[in-house]
Amino acid sequence: MEILDIKKIENWGVDFDKVLTISGPCSAESEEQLIETAKQLSKIKQVNVLRAGIWKPRTKPGNFEGHGEKALPWLLNAKKETGLKTTIEVATPEHVELALKYNVDILWIGARTTVSPFVVQDIADSLKGVDIPILVKNPVNPDIDLWIGGLERLNQAGLKKLGGIHRGFSSYAKNHLRNQPQWQLVVELMNKVPNLPLICDPSHICGQRESLYEISQTALDLQFNGLMIEAHINPDEAWSDAKQQVTPNTLKDLINKLIKRNPTSEDEIFNKTLNILREDIDEVDSNILELLSLRMGIVKTIGYHKKKSNVTVLQPNRWKNIVNKRLEEGKHKGFSEKFIEMLFKSIHQESIRIQEKIMNIKQ
Ligand code: PEP
Ligand code: MN
Repeated sequence: MEILDIKKIENWGVDFDKVLTISGPCSAESEEQLIETAKQLSKIKQVNVLRAGIWKPRTKPGNFEGHGEKALPWLLNAKKETGLKTTIEVATPEHVELALKYNVDILWIGARTTVSPFVVQDIADSLKGVDIPILVKNPVNPDIDLWIGGLERLNQAGLKKLGGIHRGFSSYAKNHLRNQPQWQLVVELMNKVPNLPLICDPSHICGQRESLYEISQTALDLQFNGLMIEAHINPDEAWSDAKQQVTPNTLKDLINKLIKRNPTSEDEIFNKTLNILREDIDEVDSNILELLSLRMGIVKTIGYHKKKSNVTVLQPNRWKNIVNKRLEEGKHKGFSEKFIEMLFKSIHQESIRIQEKIMNIKQ
């Protein structure tokens, strides 16, 4: 377990109702756009923090890269008008200096910055002695240590109001999501840094509006502490990330549809039933291991035969055959293809490891 000295999110000086909800436009485009969005958002009870991109990291040059310092007084005015706290992305010590000058309440480090230890260190150094909440987005690549490393750099500079933002990971293979969420990696992060508040950013995970609700609900079901969702008064005309932004009204409907479940229950019958079922699961899991051990025993015997007859460990056709048979069987049992593939890849890898070991025993 990593030892990070982190203050509970409840003590960050932001009032929020169960789920910290950050919303606002991808980019601050004009004072009117920002203030009008903020006004509409402030009417949604659950929204407590206004986000706006001041400096925008764009993939290609020539796109709108943010108004920079000019937009900071707009954000300050939006805060004065609505009472919402504010948050912006900072990517350099100069951004930090300006954010502090204009009383921004929470900072965040973007996914493209988290990948760079030099830049994160510069930002951490520029924040020495400042008590401000700062959220670190996951790096664009699924590297949990790089993500934790960024948090450590800030922690070592004395920052204690730290949180992580899951915004998904970039991948070459494309599906309906812009950046792939990796919930398993997040669970690993929760185990490694149990006191770290976690926010989910469904907007950058989805890249479109249709999946925002589903990803938000998954995040709540995984006990995330908050959500960051982009909203714009006229999303279709947004200067950046137009496809994924929603109007404050749509956001309100989305939030109202979300179900906030409790991490535990006091209900005795529920708890008793849960315990019985968990014991059953433990037994099944133990049986699975028993069966796997049986399988690996056979794998070993095959290994000795292969060695004796000087036959390779890897038999691609047999492997294809196994996967196809199990995929078919798995489909009938209602398992996803991805699960069966992962499961048998993993079993196959272990089988190969065992047979390789046998091949390498010197006689
Ligand atoms: C953003 O939040 O506007 C942003 C640029 O996000 P990310 O760093 O996740 O790409
Ligand atoms: Mn954006």
